[in-house]
This record gives sequence, C-alpha cells and structure tokens, in this order.
Amino acid sequence: MRPGLRLLSLALLVLAAMGQAMMVQLPQSALDANAELIVSGTVTGTESRWNNDNSSIYTYVTLAVDKVDKGTADQAVTVRVPGGEVGDVGMAVEDMPVFQIGDRVTLWLVSREGNLELLDGMQSVTQPTDARPLAYYSYSGYHRDPASCNYYTYSGLPSGWAGAIQAGGVTWSTAGSAFRFNYLGTTSASGTVYDGQNVVSRGSLSNGILAQNTYWYNRATKHVVENDIVFNTLYQWSTSGAPGYYDVQNIGTHEMGHCLVLNDLYKSYHSELTMYGYGATGETKKQTLEAGDIQGIKVIYGTGLLRANLRPTAVD
Ligand SMILES: [Zn+2]
Repeated sequence: MRPGLRLLSLALLVLAAMGQAMMVQLPQSALDANAELIVSGTVTGTESRWNNDNSSIYTYVTLAVDKVDKGTADQAVTVRVPGGEVGDVGMAVEDMPVFQIGDRVTLWLVSREGNLELLDGMQSVTQPTDARPLAYYSYSGYHRDPASCNYYTYSGLPSGWAGAIQAGGVTWSTAGSAFRFNYLGTTSASGTVYDGQNVVSRGSLSNGILAQNTYWYNRATKHVVENDIVFNTLYQWSTSGAPGYYDVQNIGTHEMGHCLVLNDLYKSYHSELTMYGYGATGETKKQTLEAGDIQGIKVIYGTGLLRANLRPTAVD
C-alpha cells in the first residue's frame, strides 16, 4: 500500500458547509482512482458569477495548494462549483459544498468543460476536523414563505413516475406541519433552469449522484423561490421498489424534503431518516418519514394543528 493512498483512505469523511446529496456512496478507492488531481490546501478566494445565458450561477473557488497527492498542480488552483450568490439571487445545489475563505480542505478533482470541478460533489471534499452539528434534522434558515410549493412534473417522465412523485409530496403535506405541496400537472420544462417553475424531471447528472435538488433563494430573506429536482438517467429506476433498481418514490420523497428546505444527513446513525443523504437499490424506507424528519418541518413551519387552535375563543 502506497503511503499517499493510505493516508487518503484514512481521511475522515467530514464535509464542508451546506451541500446536500442523494448519492451512491463511492468507496474511497474509486474516488482516488478517478480523480485527476488530489490536492490539499486553504481556500483563499471565492467568486460567484452567472453563466453566459444567465440560467445558472457558478462559484470559482481559489485554493492555495500545500500538498499534491495525485497529478500536478500550480501553487493555486481554481475549482468551479455549481451554485453561489450574485446580487439578490442565490442558487444552492444539492450535494455541492459551499466554501468559505480559510477553509482547510482536501479535494478530489477532475477537468470538465475546461474547468476543474469536484469529482463527485460533497464526497470529493474532506476537512481535518468534524464541524457538522449532530442533529437529527439539519436546517440552515432557507425556507418557503408562504409554506407551500406548487410544482410540476416533466411530461417526458416514464409512466408511473408522476404518481410516485406526488405520493412523496403528500407524505410531507400530511406529516403534521403547516407546509403543503400542490401538484400543478405536467410541463414541457425540464432540467435545472431558473424560470420561476418548480419542476421534477430527469436528465444526465454526474456519476454517483442519484438525483439532485437545486434551489434558488432571496439572499436577504432566505426565502426559497424555486426548486428543480432532476433524477439521474445514468441509473435504473423503478416505481415498485424492485430489487436492483432505485425507487422513484423513495428518492423522490427525500428530494422533496429539500424543497422545505431540510438538508442531507450523513451520519450512520441517521441512516433510517428520509433525509439521510445516501440511497440504495430496492430501498423504500425513505417513503415514510421518521421522527427527525417530522421534527424538522414542524420547527421550520409550525404545525397546522397549532394554527387551527389559534381561533379566537368565543366571548359571551
Ligand atoms: Zn439530499
């Protein structure tokens, strides 16, 4: 075993900031093998910009490199990460970490479209110490106001998908909080596009990502104004929990939790929660919410029951 790789395999899977993911958990050996560049260093700068057609925001993260475990790198490298904040608009992408100046990180990188990018989102980042709060739900203040999400499904989804996705919405709407999903039918829109429509569709995403929820929000209020969910066509899907296939309702219920906005959980003791950030074939346990998931949305949105009980008392 080579010393460099041994060190990598022992690196703690401690992750930066507020990324969110529904991912296939890749072995460390796969990350090591597939990365073109593995570097450690300190974040010295971040700059967020709209892309050319103003449909997405990317953040360019500068890392001062002090260690190279694979490949060759200059003293500073720039990594393109989907998401960021420009003007009044913020775009957050599930599974993508948000870096801050001073963060000490090790990154597993590949070259895509002329940019260095994270090989596999949050799984491609480790930090020296564990800074994540040990909560049974994770909430960063981003939420919907009013407490509802009116959404569409892409008209090109396979048979049965829209029903499976709606079932996920109903699960959240009937869990005891004031939050409601409202299904508006199908749309020809798909993918991740800032267009004012909340759309569930499918498309090609990076290897390792099962599905991804991107949300746009107002920076000042943290009010979420749009969510787009994309299921990855790279994987085999089923609407019946079939062995060997990923279940649409299972993963869909998890993804819709990000519309609320609950964040992913990664600790092994969170593995029964719907918001656990890893999924498996044949799995259906995310279709039903656990206590931590329900506690999370009640804290964010309050309980509908409580609101009903606030009727004025009759005065004789
Ligand atoms: Zn997730």
